[in-house]
Amino acid sequence: MLLRRIAFLLEQAGEPAYRSRAFRRAADTVGDLNEVEIRKRTDAGTLTDLPGVGPVTAGIVAEALAGVTPPYLARLQEQALEAASTDAGRLAAALRGDCHVHSDWSDGVASIREMAMAAIELGHEYIVLTDHSPSLRIARGLSGDRLREQIVAVDVLNQELAPFRILTGIEVDILPDGSLDQDADLLARLDVVVGSVHSLLRMEREAMTERMLNAIENPSLDILGHCTGRMKTRKRDRPGSEFDSARVFAACARYGKAVEVNSLAERRDPPQRLIQEALALGCQFALDSDAHSPGALAGKRRGCERATAAGVTADRVVNTRPAEALLDWARSHRAAAGSRRA
Ligand SMILES: [Zn+2]
Ligand SMILES: [Zn+2]
Repeated sequence: MLLRRIAFLLEQAGEPAYRSRAFRRAADTVGDLNEVEIRKRTDAGTLTDLPGVGPVTAGIVAEALAGVTPPYLARLQEQALEAASTDAGRLAAALRGDCHVHSDWSDGVASIREMAMAAIELGHEYIVLTDHSPSLRIARGLSGDRLREQIVAVDVLNQELAPFRILTGIEVDILPDGSLDQDADLLARLDVVVGSVHSLLRMEREAMTERMLNAIENPSLDILGHCTGRMKTRKRDRPGSEFDSARVFAACARYGKAVEVNSLAERRDPPQRLIQEALALGCQFALDSDAHSPGALAGKRRGCERATAAGVTADRVVNTRPAEALLDWARSHRAAAGSRRA
């Protein structure tokens, strides 16, 4: 994993291709071994007998096994941070994960594993896997059974990819009455839940506000996805929904839910004015790619530019936190909802 991260950083820094290629080759070779074999060879000093593994890469593997950050990697990461001289660059470098990622289980183009590998190269510690819910048939939304299957598949992958973590999640449709399009028990099992409006976007303002408030009050919802639903492509230009943003963002702030800054080029949602309003009302944010392909994970840079231009700082962005802190955040507002009901 570290070898791939190093290859990515070398490419990003504009180093000659033969250097990153060497690290990718070594990563492939070492990746074919299990951890016991890697340890055995490291202890015996025979890792370099394998094709593509030289003293530098073998040294990095040994350091990683010993639980230290290899200085070679630390130096590259330091350089990348220095190169990020803008606020947006610094926020992008501070992101430890992504809370909105699709796979080919719904309408993404790549496997869960491919999405995770791309996130590892970007330097992420985790992604939240958020495939669609049943009512979004056009995007092959997952039934309850399929989602349960996916949770098992994620568990298996996590054992392979540790310490990287795939957190379980969903992008659940906010139905017209504000309820969420999946069983409450199943939603409660997931690590992080993004809720989004995908249907009846032209609902009357008051009804749309109530719909969103209902969803935000739902204990299972953690992040309000692309809140206006606006969409601009070459073929269509769909304006955002009408809703009372002051009430919606005040509810997010009150219940400790995050407002998503969606980085997709065709969405760029919410618009700048609404990011500023949410910030002023005390909201936290999730800075997400909404990636449907591996390369799109890096699109968060776009969201970072818009967020920092609106004055959002890293401490207000939930995915600058380590995975455990993100999970604590989700648990804390869910627990608070439980005690409100009691
Ligand atoms: Zn969506
Ligand atoms: Zn999405």
